[in-house]
Amino acid sequence: MSLESIDRVAVLGAGNMGHGITEVTAMAGYDVTMRDIKDEFVEDGYESIKWSVEKLEEKEMLDDSAEEVLDRIDTTTDLEAAVADADLVIEAAPEELDLKHDIFSDLEEYTSEDTLLATNTSSLPITDIAEVVDTPERVLGLHFFNPPVKMDLVEVIYGQDTSDEAAEAGYEWVESIDKTPIYVRKDVRGFVVNTIVGPFGGEPAWMVSNDEATIREADATMVHERGYPMGPFELGDLTGIDVGYHVRKEGGDPIPPITEEKVEAGDLGQKTGKGFYDYEDGDGADYEPEDAGDFDWLRVEARMINRAAFLVGEDVAKPEEVDTGVQLGLGFPEGICRRADKIGLDTVLEKLQTLYEETGSDRFEPHPYLEQLVEEGKTGEEAGAGFYDYGDDELGPFHDLNYELEDGVLSVELDRPSRMNALSEDLLNEIDELFSSVDTDEVRCATIEGAGDQAFCAGADVSGFSDANPTDLMDVTPAFETVNDFERPVLAKIDGFCLGGGLELALACDLRVATERSSFGAPEINLGLIPGGGGTQRLTRVLGETRAKELVFRGNHIDADRAEEWGLINRSVERDEFDDTVDEFVSDLAGGPPIALKIAKKVMNEGEDASIEAAIAMESQGFGLLTSTEDVLEGTAAFAEDREPEFEGK
Ligand code: NAD
Repeated sequence: MSLESIDRVAVLGAGNMGHGITEVTAMAGYDVTMRDIKDEFVEDGYESIKWSVEKLEEKEMLDDSAEEVLDRIDTTTDLEAAVADADLVIEAAPEELDLKHDIFSDLEEYTSEDTLLATNTSSLPITDIAEVVDTPERVLGLHFFNPPVKMDLVEVIYGQDTSDEAAEAGYEWVESIDKTPIYVRKDVRGFVVNTIVGPFGGEPAWMVSNDEATIREADATMVHERGYPMGPFELGDLTGIDVGYHVRKEGGDPIPPITEEKVEAGDLGQKTGKGFYDYEDGDGADYEPEDAGDFDWLRVEARMINRAAFLVGEDVAKPEEVDTGVQLGLGFPEGICRRADKIGLDTVLEKLQTLYEETGSDRFEPHPYLEQLVEEGKTGEEAGAGFYDYGDDELGPFHDLNYELEDGVLSVELDRPSRMNALSEDLLNEIDELFSSVDTDEVRCATIEGAGDQAFCAGADVSGFSDANPTDLMDVTPAFETVNDFERPVLAKIDGFCLGGGLELALACDLRVATERSSFGAPEINLGLIPGGGGTQRLTRVLGETRAKELVFRGNHIDADRAEEWGLINRSVERDEFDDTVDEFVSDLAGGPPIALKIAKKVMNEGEDASIEAAIAMESQGFGLLTSTEDVLEGTAAFAEDREPEFEGK
């Protein structure tokens, strides 16, 4: 059982999840059979896939044509035919244990012992589902999020008997379809993501039930002060108040009175027109930043952090995995373990202890792992260790970006895909730190790209503005200048949105290569702002005043072809040519003479703002300096000998 042996996939169920999983599987190049119990269900699922891949093709988000993707999909109502040749079966049938037992008993009969059997269950233990199979070591959870085509995360869950081999094959397969897997090493209720999200909705519901807060205070604080994409009550209304209610009930957890009242009244959220907010006669989730008041957000986050301590302490997941899970699965602005380390684990523990003493409620009982970390003095970032170790890594650690330095190429990835890689204060600080502390002797050129498949970077994270001090925002943001002044050439690899702060970062780079589907803009004016990361100035220098003012004053987007025509980017290329084009640029930059490139960058950047005489004088000095380098000797010798030069930067 290994990834190499997975060619054919079968998906059981053509509903919400089944058709989405089929779609992403076929998009990644696998042959896949989708099975449901009636022709009409299979047809509906197939139609939904067809509609979606055609939309993706229109937006140039498919590697192959829609037709090629659809050609890889077979549909059937015959279970045996669907699974007989499959190397991986993913069950996405309704959430009923008896039904899943029937399906897995049949799978035992119709598949060979080498077939990997996965379930997409959200809440049933994998171990319970696997109990009808004689070989439970090949059964695992592959928990996709809804909708699979948009959501990057897949939890790879061990049942009690799942073998490492099966889990690893599942993990690698998830990577091969371009999704991000995280291991869930024990079969705990809620796996990783739903374990953390429980208190996000639950605790505010208790606080409102106890008259300790209002709905609007909670939502406004969590969104506008803590950066969550949605308030807890707004989220409850969106997913359905009954959904959270049943999860709690099944888990034997007490239910906050306000949740109970809503469910009894049939006010279940958006789907019934009314929930915590009124969507028919009112304006829906109409909270404003001013509603925040003094809502006790730490109480909510402390409980989520306590759950993270449980997951890490019981070896269910590592801090990195918990953090990836909540960012990709829930759109949290940063990982919960990372946030805990910033708040201080001692502060978190104290909050829980106080609430536990005051209320006696089990939900505040600190997990022993949290107590242990605090006892060991690992109270977070300031102490040098917490959930994470902030040890003596020369660079970093970085949480919002990834970097790799290989063969002189520093490849940087902005890693906040759930926020379209928006520039938070932390991310800006990390860019600044990386570019100012990396050893430039080891670097010949750098590239910057965005994680995920939507954006290079969609702007500044505006959720950070509402509580920021205006005078702090008036300071020049160092990250853009550090990139601009970096001694080596920097290339922006742009695939998707490149807006606002993202555009400013790309402008601070020396060169920009983009896919045709990318779009560019400086939309700050629409928020009553202006570009604040050098955009007004660099746009004018790159585009000239006429076009720069059009972008800044109108706040519209332009596409990659226009951007190329205007000289905003060096190349606009089709997606399947993108990597090759970038490689050609990088190979020239990385193979070029480092000192000459450094001086060329410096005199071109600085010369722009000097008088022509001063700029030419600067150039001549640079020229003179270069004549004494070994690289010049090598360059001229190679030219004479008609070979490729090997520059060493000496
Ligand atoms: P759904 O009701 O939309 O689809 C289920 C499909 O399975 C239906 O079309 C049904 O006809 C079909 N089905 C019934 N018996 C079957 C059988 N024996 N063989 C094959 N197909 C059969 O449900 P869904 O939302 O797609 O959920 C499916 C599974 O995914 C559940 O276990 C659920 O917990 C899990 N899940 C759901 C979500 C979500 O947000 N909807 C997210 C993650 C996981």
